[in-house]
Amino acid sequence: MEKDNMELKMPPDKASSSQLPVLGLSVKRGLDKENVPEPKKKRARGPGTTATIAISHPRVPTMPRVKKQETAQKAPLKSGSWHTTAVNTGMKSRKPISAVSAPKPAVDPTTTRKGPSKRPAWDVKGQLCDLRKEFSACQEQTEVLTRENQELRNQLGEAEQHNKTLNAENKALKAENKALSGELTEVQVQAKQDRLELVKLGARVLELEELLHNQEGLIQSLQEEQLGLQGERRDLVTRLEAQSVQLQESTAALAKSQAEITAQAALLAKRAEHLHGLEMERRYLHNQLQELKGNIRVFCRVRPALPGEPEPPSGLIVFPPGPNGASDPPTRLSLTRPTDDHRCSIIGGLPGPVRYDFSFDRVFLPGSRQNEVFEEVSLLVQSALDGYPVCIFAYGQTGSGKTFTMEGGPGGDPQVEGLIPRAVRHLFSVARKLEAQGWSYTFVASYVEIYNETIRDLLASVGGARKCQGGECEIRLAGPGSKELIVTNAQYVPVTCEEEVESLLHLARQNRAVARTIQNEQSSRSHSVFQLQISGKHIGQNLHCAAPLSLVDLAGSERLDPGLSAGPAERERLKETQAINSSLSTLGLVIMALSNKESHVPYRNSKLTYLLQNSLGGSAKMLMFVNISPLEENFSESLNSLRFASKVNQCVIGTARSNKK
Ligand code: ADP
Ligand code: MG
Repeated sequence: MEKDNMELKMPPDKASSSQLPVLGLSVKRGLDKENVPEPKKKRARGPGTTATIAISHPRVPTMPRVKKQETAQKAPLKSGSWHTTAVNTGMKSRKPISAVSAPKPAVDPTTTRKGPSKRPAWDVKGQLCDLRKEFSACQEQTEVLTRENQELRNQLGEAEQHNKTLNAENKALKAENKALSGELTEVQVQAKQDRLELVKLGARVLELEELLHNQEGLIQSLQEEQLGLQGERRDLVTRLEAQSVQLQESTAALAKSQAEITAQAALLAKRAEHLHGLEMERRYLHNQLQELKGNIRVFCRVRPALPGEPEPPSGLIVFPPGPNGASDPPTRLSLTRPTDDHRCSIIGGLPGPVRYDFSFDRVFLPGSRQNEVFEEVSLLVQSALDGYPVCIFAYGQTGSGKTFTMEGGPGGDPQVEGLIPRAVRHLFSVARKLEAQGWSYTFVASYVEIYNETIRDLLASVGGARKCQGGECEIRLAGPGSKELIVTNAQYVPVTCEEEVESLLHLARQNRAVARTIQNEQSSRSHSVFQLQISGKHIGQNLHCAAPLSLVDLAGSERLDPGLSAGPAERERLKETQAINSSLSTLGLVIMALSNKESHVPYRNSKLTYLLQNSLGGSAKMLMFVNISPLEENFSESLNSLRFASKVNQCVIGTARSNKK
């Protein structure tokens, strides 16, 4: 019934709203657990039940569980705490709820119940009056509570609004947090990169520190070195000072020496002049000597019997000693025809050996060595440097040793080198010595062979020797007004040393070897002519001389065997032999004509004499080697050769003139 009263006097919305969790469910629960007296007790009190209600209501606003809500950050109800939150979250200030926490009831029910004016049971009217008072107090209380409730609702709304704001703020904060997280990640990445950079920088710093350390070491060593150098510099300055003094002394001595040198130079020039006079005198005397020896000389050389050849019978060739015995160089030889020869003469009606005596400028016995032979020739060769044309022939039958004498033996052994390489070496050597006296020489070499009145160049590239390069080889004057003769299309090679000449001789040998395989043993039936054009200049004395040195390996002088049948090969051989005989006899005729001082010298009758025109005759010095085979079987040819050479030897060609200007 009391409950019904309460429900009747309170508006339904108010009654229900008083149950709203304005202060939160926990408030209600708090009330239930702590502040609401148990129902049994209420009933036991009887009429005091209404007082229980009155007591319970004022206690609701005190809300002992408000702290829980603060913690949950819902609706802050506690005074001060709310205010603090509002300030912290930036919300506008709110009214504190002190009215709720400390409501002042219009009537104190305890005072009513416990007051001294307690009515007796029969005083119903008085009790009713009290009840009415109490009811009116309750109504007031209810109104207060309703206001409070309303106020709390308002606060709740505000709290919700605030909550929304907070949520929005929270959202914004989350977004901000997210953005910050992104930034933080970036910052972390950046920090990571920075750390790496830092590590690198640390390594670089270490490196630089090491470098610095090294540089410091270097600086220290440089400083030490500088100190050393400064010491050295001081020493050098001291030495320089000493040397300056020495230099001054030396300069004075040098000036003195220069004066002496000038005097010596004048003396030297005088002596050079004198030397030149002596050189010219030497040339004159040398020429005189050559003239005394004869401008045409004949040397006879008898080769030894070769291995495999029959030993010549003793007495076949003998070398009678000179007037002074063995100390005289041999100049004579005698050939004695073998007694079984059908051509043995009949002396005094009795058959007997016939002796043929020959005398030459020099006779070389079979054991003579190449250097001995050259010694006799060297002075003659040297005349070519003095401007005298020099011509050396080797005459004799095939196999008598002409090529051996002129070029040398096989194998390139220096011991068996012939006249040509030795003469060339000698010329270069003497020319170098004469250079010291102011002479300078140039040499031009050529090498041709004449076969069947045809000239071939032996200095053409290998294999090209059969023809002259670029056309026929003909003998022509070197130029208009020139007396010098040259072979057209033949090589004229300037040479400066013996090695160059040696390579030319090698080339000529190769060319002849090729030719030999093409035409059977042709080389023995051709004349080969090596010529060296020598030109000398003396600038100081304005002298010039030029002369050819000709070294000729003549074709075999053997006669044609009259018993040969007249086949095509023999006819060819006959033609060859006639050409050889013709050119050799022309050579003899030319020498005779020169000797007899005939007006016409038949140089042009053969290619050989025409080519050698400037090396034969008045101004030239000639030497003929007559090469003899020691063999008995070659007796007749040896005799013929010696007879030819004897004729040449009897020739005296007029005084040689040097081609000097
Ligand atoms: P040619 O040229 O007159 O036909 P070679 O010079 O070819 O004769 O000589 C014929 C051979 O005799 C060659 O084998 C050569 O080496 C040899 N011979 C010539 N003269 C001498 C010499 N004085 N001493 C040794 N061997 C010689
Ligand atoms: Mg020969």
